[in-house]
Amino acid sequence: MSGLTITPWVVGNWKMNPMQANAQQLIQDLKQQLKQNNIPAEACRIGVAPTTLALLSTQAQFSDAASEVFTVAQDLSRIAGTGAYTGEVSAELLKDSGIEYVLIGHSERREIFGDSAKVVADKVKNALAAGLHIIYCVGESLAQRESGQAEQVVLEQICDISTVVNADQWTHITIAYEPIWAIGTGKTASPEDAQNMHAKIREGLSQITPAGSTMAILYGGSVKPENAVELAACPDINGALVGGASLNAESFYQIARAFAQTK
Ligand code: PEP
Repeated sequence: MSGLTITPWVVGNWKMNPMQANAQQLIQDLKQQLKQNNIPAEACRIGVAPTTLALLSTQAQFSDAASEVFTVAQDLSRIAGTGAYTGEVSAELLKDSGIEYVLIGHSERREIFGDSAKVVADKVKNALAAGLHIIYCVGESLAQRESGQAEQVVLEQICDISTVVNADQWTHITIAYEPIWAIGTGKTASPEDAQNMHAKIREGLSQITPAGSTMAILYGGSVKPENAVELAACPDINGALVGGASLNAESFYQIARAFAQTK
């Protein structure tokens, strides 16, 4: 446990959702929730990660929200800069468009799109060079957990990027621990299991960087209003990366409120 107060982060990962009309409604509903009962950024930082297509319109629509809602890209290119790379969006292009945050290493990128440790490290390097803040996702599969390798896998994923992160860049990284078997399955790691892994992650980070004691470590995997309070009560769980439940404004708001009130 860090012993210091770390402002929690609650970030909604909208993945390849929603269609335009539903996105407009979701944004309006979330703004309405925040207007009725605002959550100050000192109590909980709130972010959403829409599709690349919707990044700028989402950012514009949240610009007058009662609480700050920052906009996060779900991924970026492993290629830096600009050039002949059809379909790619680089760190520099994100930054140039006013997008300051990016998810890297989500298990869906690793598993479905084949992002290797090298590709993930390249993305981290590019994002940091462009001045972006990274939410770096780590997590083990069910088979890895059942064979007792969970901790090793997760710490290796952190080591994978340690060679491309300079000493002064760790403060630009937030970790999201997302056990793959808990993503979109309705199964959540028990608060004890999640806390144990978060404590190991903090220990591992602290061996790499002094910033380890103050870096936010988010939990992700079927977080919902029903389990958010218990998760928020764990000392090393400093927020949540929320998939399914972030597509419902009321549920997402309740999760953010749980972290804002418990921490
Ligand atoms: C995610 O994909 O980052 C995630 C945590 O999804 P869910 O909340 O739906 O499990």
